[in-house]
Amino acid sequence: MSTKASKKRTKKGSSPWLLNMPQIIDCLQELFLPDEIVEELELIDIDELLLDGFSTIILDLDNTLLGTYERNIPLENIHWIQQLKSLGFRVFVFSNNSDKRRVQKMCIQLKVYGTFFSMKPLPFSLKEFAKIHKINLKKTIYVGDQILTDVFVGNWVKAYSVLVLSDKYPLTFIKTIQKDIEKKLLSFIAPKDAN
Ligand SMILES: [Mg+2]
Repeated sequence: MSTKASKKRTKKGSSPWLLNMPQIIDCLQELFLPDEIVEELELIDIDELLLDGFSTIILDLDNTLLGTYERNIPLENIHWIQQLKSLGFRVFVFSNNSDKRRVQKMCIQLKVYGTFFSMKPLPFSLKEFAKIHKINLKKTIYVGDQILTDVFVGNWVKAYSVLVLSDKYPLTFIKTIQKDIEKKLLSFIAPKDAN
């Protein structure tokens, strides 16, 4: 399943200090609503995004490309990334994982540049990463599995944010709680006309 969200702006009221509920939802959508939600990486419509001028893909690592407890990227994800490269995309990994060796190993498996301990959702590290690798973030697809870190940082830098909503990777207890909170947030801010 793939869902594309439309972020509609509500006109501001007369007072700049008081926000009504639609305006609050607008703000939350700007920050936390992904441009697209998919159940699998392969469901992202890469051809359409290529036609729209996107040329770079930045991917979260854990629970996006492989499970937290896995030691190797699944073959289907390696093939998907090879396909992206063959279409001309520049591919990067941007991970919050503090285990430098793990992130390095995955980047070697994928033959891509990446970074560890990226301090998402703070955006400065991503902006610095973009500067180093000459990435135009507005022409970048940012893909991750968490709303509060991946979608937030992607939206903040005006990238095209994609949320991977998959339950195929086992989660830690803390991550399970976080995912429940994120699902509630998503159902609160999702446009009611979206399917
Ligand atoms: Mg993740």
